[in-house]
Formats: sequence, C-alpha cells, structure tokens
Amino acid sequence: MSVLDRFGRRLGTLRISVTDRCNLRCQYCMPEREYAWLPKPDILRFEELTRLARAFVSLGVKKLRLTGGEPLLRANLAELIAQLKALPGLEEIALTTNGVLLADQAPELVKAGLGRITVSLDTLKEERFFQLTRRSGLAEVERGLVAAAAQPGLGPLKIDTVLLRGVNEDELLDLVEYAGRVPAEIRFIEYMDVGGATTWRAEDVVTRAEILERLSARYGRIEPIPADDGAPAERFRLPGGQTLGIIASVTQPFCKTCDRARLTADGTWYLCLYAERGHDLRALIRGGASDEELLEFIARAWSLRDDRGAEARVGLADRAPLVTLRALRSDPRLEMHSRGG
Ligand code: SF4
Repeated sequence: MSVLDRFGRRLGTLRISVTDRCNLRCQYCMPEREYAWLPKPDILRFEELTRLARAFVSLGVKKLRLTGGEPLLRANLAELIAQLKALPGLEEIALTTNGVLLADQAPELVKAGLGRITVSLDTLKEERFFQLTRRSGLAEVERGLVAAAAQPGLGPLKIDTVLLRGVNEDELLDLVEYAGRVPAEIRFIEYMDVGGATTWRAEDVVTRAEILERLSARYGRIEPIPADDGAPAERFRLPGGQTLGIIASVTQPFCKTCDRARLTADGTWYLCLYAERGHDLRALIRGGASDEELLEFIARAWSLRDDRGAEARVGLADRAPLVTLRALRSDPRLEMHSRGG
C-alpha cells in the first residue's frame, strides 16, 4: 500500500530519532550551553517504536533511518534493529551517527540487520574538531569509520559534512581525499537554518555552486551521476572515478520529491524538517488506539501533507534562524537534534 500527499509524494522513508541526547555539541546544531531535554518517561520503548515503524512500513515506508541526537547513546540499539529488521516489506535500515562510539558497536549493529551507515564528520583537525563540537573525539570517529568500512554486508559507507564559511571550508579537498582513502562517499550538506541552528546566517552557507567550482578547479571535469532513487544528494564522479554528493538544501531544495517523515524519540511525528507542529503518536498508542486506528491516522495526516519547508524559505528577504531560542526552550522537539536532522 502507498499513501500520497497533496503533491503526489509518497510516504517512503521514516527517520526515527531514538534519543535526543548527544555526546557532541556541534556549532550548527547545538550551539547553546543549556538544553531542555525530552522527559525520560516520554521516550518510546523499543516495542512502541517497532509498533509505529510497522504501521509506517505497512503504509509504504521502505527505508528506516535511525538518528538522534546520537543514536549510539541509546542502550541496546542492536535489539531495536533486530526487531525492525523483522518487519515485512522493509527494505533497508540505515543509521546516521557522529561515529564516536561506532568502532565498538558496528559489528553488533550490522549483525542485527543494519544495512547502511552515514558518519557526520566536518574536520580532520583535532583542534578544530574540539572547536566545532566542544568535545574531543576525532580519533574515535576515524576508528569508527575504519571499523564500519571493514564490515562485510554493509552498503556503501557515507560521510556527511557541513561546510561553514571561514570555519572548515578550507578542508573541502582534504575531506574528499580522506573519504576516498576510507573508502566512503562524502556528501557536502549546505548549512541549514532549521530549529537549533540559532547562529545561522545566510553568508555562512558554503553553497553547492561554490563547492562544485572548487572541485572543478582541483579535479577538472566533474561528471553528474543521474539520480535513480529520489535521494536528496546530487551525486558526481571525479575524473579518477571517486564519487561524492552535494545536498543543496538551502540553495536548491528538493521538496518536490521528498518522501521523508520524522519521528522524535517521544513519538511526535513531523511531516517536514521545518514543520513547527507534529502529531503526537505516543498519545495515540499509549491511549489504546488499535492498529487500524493508527494506520488510519497516519494515512490521513500524510494525505493532507502540503509541506515544502525548504522551498518556502528560498528567496526570503532577511532569512534568519527558523525558531527563536525562547521557542526552542519551551519545546525541545523543535530542535534539529530531537528530530534527527
Ligand atoms: S524541507 Fe520538508 S518537504 Fe522539503 S525536503 Fe526537507 S523535509 Fe522534505
């Protein structure tokens, strides 16, 4: 079964944030000193997450991506992966992680059924890693990448990088070369003005056009790879054969093909990364809703979806952070680290 929204976009991917906690404090995601966290009793148990995932999969979701905060902070994550892996109709379980805890956990997660891993990494310099994340851990992330690359049966490994003007943009080429050595496919993501990015400024975005220009200056002709799966990254091949991606969420958003929904760790379902309100699925399942009622609710909400958050913000005069600090403090679900980026 598949469900279409008002623009004919099918529900295809569900990102599940398994915790809002993180062991790093990246500038573009968690720049503040203090945070309001989701209350512990509200965090969904694995059985609850699996029940919700089952409903989404029966409505056409083929891919689940586990996110955070930092998903590897959630205890016994392999157990959840094994439960999700058993869902009929599901094609893939992926994970986005900062990689700090990955080396130790990768073998168990892959054994449980994890199919793909994406590691966020913005610098190869220890001192800069500390400035960007306010924690140490670059060596652990690199160990995690090596461990993930060595796992048999795992899909192509990816590295996600956000380039910030005047901060790490000088590492563009070093990061490409590093990814080639891992080996992993690196994707450069334009710095986004989503909830949590309270220090975002348009002039700090290193754009798709600039990235391509710098790559071409170094490598010569960059060949576009035709898209075949509606994924957000535009992919390119360098003359030596190495592939990489660019996710131009700010300058060339891809809302037209967006099949993604997001579930926070406390069961709030958002239909767009920029949505200011979500649907409380925890209240439904803890309130005794039947499976049929749950399916009906999700299908109806998706069929009414008309979100195109990033497209709506292109060309805004005085574009600024989406949510004020005050609003973030009153509702931690507005934070990017709660809704899984
Ligand atoms: S802004 Fe919203 S609709 Fe657009 S691609 Fe992102 S999640 Fe999808």
